[in-house]
Amino acid sequence: MITSVPPPTAAPGVPWPPGLVPYVTRWSAEHELPSAVVPARGGDGIAFADEQLHDRDRHGVLWVRRQVHQGAGSPLFSKVHSVRQRYAMRRLRCQACRQPADRNAQGLLWLLEDGRADHPDWPEGQMTVHPPVCRGGCVDKAIEQCPHLRNNWVTVRVHEPVLDGVFGRLYLPGRPLPVPAAKVTRLYDAPDVHWVLASQLVATLTGCTIESAWAPRPTPTTGTRPGPAPSRTGAGPARRRKSR
Ligand SMILES: [Zn+2]
Repeated sequence: MITSVPPPTAAPGVPWPPGLVPYVTRWSAEHELPSAVVPARGGDGIAFADEQLHDRDRHGVLWVRRQVHQGAGSPLFSKVHSVRQRYAMRRLRCQACRQPADRNAQGLLWLLEDGRADHPDWPEGQMTVHPPVCRGGCVDKAIEQCPHLRNNWVTVRVHEPVLDGVFGRLYLPGRPLPVPAAKVTRLYDAPDVHWVLASQLVATLTGCTIESAWAPRPTPTTGTRPGPAPSRTGAGPARRRKSR
């Protein structure tokens, strides 16, 4: 996500200038709405006690309920608003300004933390919770403002992002109520996806072409790495797409 350190001009009670806070950032007045999580009918998964039709996505996964008051209170730069993240991902809007993400013949534009050392064909098959970006200055602003991107960024063209999973809180079966456990990333075809209270939509990046980067591709290192390479895209390891 495009996060940034609050600028020194941000004083309590002073409105934040438009455009300074990324669209998907959560604000302090946007509270989670209290919703009792209960076992789903049939026992396979979770439900809300007072569930409404719009509480689930078209894959039947339950989504967290959160107030929408963009601009109210102060921005929580390390937090993502579930409704706006999901909107930006589904509609392929810029995560920072909500304008349509940039697209050319090679695909949509994504700004990622540099993971080229992880795998030779990174970021092909990577899963991410970060929506794409526009060309209207949001890339430059993010690189300038976000410490985790400075000297660590890559822009990628993605021919086909596949919205194929969720990030959220996994619940475990419990009596009398399901028990909240770890935050997880789950594909929609995972056997326990209906035990997840989703808060972000996940995209698998396919047809990737690296467009530009902060530095040339790092030289491959020799020697062994313990375990699988960590993801730098925020949602988990690469997923090899099934035959298409
Ligand atoms: Zn933008």
